[in-house]
Amino acid sequence: MRTFKHINAYTVNEACELLGQYQGKAKLNAGGTDLLSVLKGDILPEYPEAVINAKTISGLDSISEDGNVLKIGALALLSDVAKSPVLKEKCGVLAEAALSVGSPLIRNVATIGGNLCQAPRCWYYRYPRRLGGPLPCLRKGNGPCLAVKGDNRYHAILEGKGCFAVCTSDIAVALAALDAKITIVGSKGERSISVIDFYHPLGNTLEMDEMIKDFQIPITMLSMKQRFLKFTLRKPIDFAIVSVAASIGLNDGVCTDARIILGAVAPMPFRVKAAEEKIIGQSISDNVAAEAAEKALANAKPLTMNAYKVNIAKALVRRAITGPTAGLGE
Ligand SMILES: Cc1cc2nc3c(=O)[nH]c(=O)nc-3n(C[C@H](O)[C@H](O)[C@H](O)COP(=O)(O)OP(=O)(O)OC[C@H]3O[C@@H](n4cnc5c(N)ncnc54)[C@H](O)[C@@H]3O)c2cc1C
Ligand code: SF4
Repeated sequence: MRTFKHINAYTVNEACELLGQYQGKAKLNAGGTDLLSVLKGDILPEYPEAVINAKTISGLDSISEDGNVLKIGALALLSDVAKSPVLKEKCGVLAEAALSVGSPLIRNVATIGGNLCQAPRCWYYRYPRRLGGPLPCLRKGNGPCLAVKGDNRYHAILEGKGCFAVCTSDIAVALAALDAKITIVGSKGERSISVIDFYHPLGNTLEMDEMIKDFQIPITMLSMKQRFLKFTLRKPIDFAIVSVAASIGLNDGVCTDARIILGAVAPMPFRVKAAEEKIIGQSISDNVAAEAAEKALANAKPLTMNAYKVNIAKALVRRAITGPTAGLGE
């Protein structure tokens, strides 16, 4: 770890002001479970001059109903999201996604805001200085993507545009299925953006002086059947090979509305509208779900080593449509 200035911020505005003053040469720290490994590995092209501590901002960890939305502060811990009675009852997809992250130790420190902003898990991106890194690549602003001709077994099968690192945030997938909006604060004021639009193929849309304040889930989404499924190579402490989160409106077994989101297949949570269109207006059955799963992956473009992800994704979409609601198990 190299030296940097460590500054406590006591309000969201103060944190944004500090980030602005450093003009991209400062990093915000929440739980530190991702940022500290990035700093220890010294994987960034430029080492930050300062770390702005967000944990000193009070009141940003609450989970509450506020009019027509359920609001979750950016500093809410994943362990609190996983065990919150209100989220377990009304937002099973999110509580289950939070419970699937890492280990209890990680969840007790990691925040929901940090989860959406974690650096890519691409092993070329994360190649540490002590082994000869950082490796230049497109995402780091210099050179081609090393995964295209390299080992791309965990990379994107959809929407890769130059960079094929997937979005590994389980929380983003669940929030996208709930049609959540992200409140972002910066020097120009406050803005709201959907979870899917928050990402672009090379990262996220945060300006250098912006931070996430909270997430807002429309109450109307909470009456739908919800589902979160995650395929990993090992059961404890593993990132998704593929995940899926779904909100499905049902009336007498007929689908009235749907949001189905795939995780770890694209640089952002990937909404499979073709699958949603296939099930809306239909009685849910194994056949309908299987057809929807085929539609969902029809445009997949695997790289040299990751075609296996296509069948896993199809299976998860199928199970998300036919299985019980989140929290009740298979
Ligand atoms: C062993 C291990 C296993 C893991 N398994 C999973 C998994 O299965 N699924 C999964 O989804 N994740 C997994 N993770 C990732 C983990 O969930 C994230 O590291 C964590 O959620 C990040 O939160 P944090 O508060 O620690 O963020 P930090 O490490 O503090 O920050 C991470 C990044 O987010 C930025 N940031 C933090 N808060 C904000 C904010 N409010 N506004 C703007 N930017 C912000 C920081 O500047 C930094 O760039 C795992 C991590 C580890 C170490
Ligand atoms: S997938 Fe993205 S992060 Fe990984 S090497 Fe390619 S450009 Fe870099």
